Amino acid sequence: MIATVQHWIKSFTLFELLKGMSVTGRRLFSRKVTIQYPEEKTPISPRFRGHHALRRYPNGEERCIACKLCEAVCPALAITIELAERDDGTRRTTRYDIDMFKCIYCGFCEEACPVDAIVESRHFEYHFEERGENIMTKEKLLAFGDKHEAMIARDKAADAPYK
Ligand code: SF4
Ligand code: SF4
Repeated sequence: MIATVQHWIKSFTLFELLKGMSVTGRRLFSRKVTIQYPEEKTPISPRFRGHHALRRYPNGEERCIACKLCEAVCPALAITIELAERDDGTRRTTRYDIDMFKCIYCGFCEEACPVDAIVESRHFEYHFEERGENIMTKEKLLAFGDKHEAMIARDKAADAPYK
């Protein structure tokens, strides 16, 4: 009976509506926490794990030595590597694919790499439109690394104190 009366009073006085409006009113003049994305962006940690990249040394040589540690450690089985020995006796990948649909952005591949070849950059604004674009090939990963090397090197240096 009491509950029914309370419910009737609340309905009659629009209590729930006023309660909601009071929350809106309290927030109306307080500091805004929303931003106008994509024109405005929030800061990103140098440790952010976004789009992968394969890096080169300053002389243009690929860092990756085809040790396959990243492939072995990947919990999502997202990395596929094939390799071959070069004339000078060093090993290099002939295929390095990452399936971005399988990847869970755990960062294990980057952690496992002994030569900082595979990294996850802070870049996260990308999308796929065609079937198969989710497979990041070695060529695409190297091209991405070449394009963003300055940013990647800066983030690696900033991240160094945490290692
Ligand atoms: S970030 Fe994790 S899931 Fe993605 S490729 Fe690297 S190890 Fe695999
Ligand atoms: S990216 Fe690093 S961990 Fe993966 S195969 Fe190349 S050198 Fe090894």
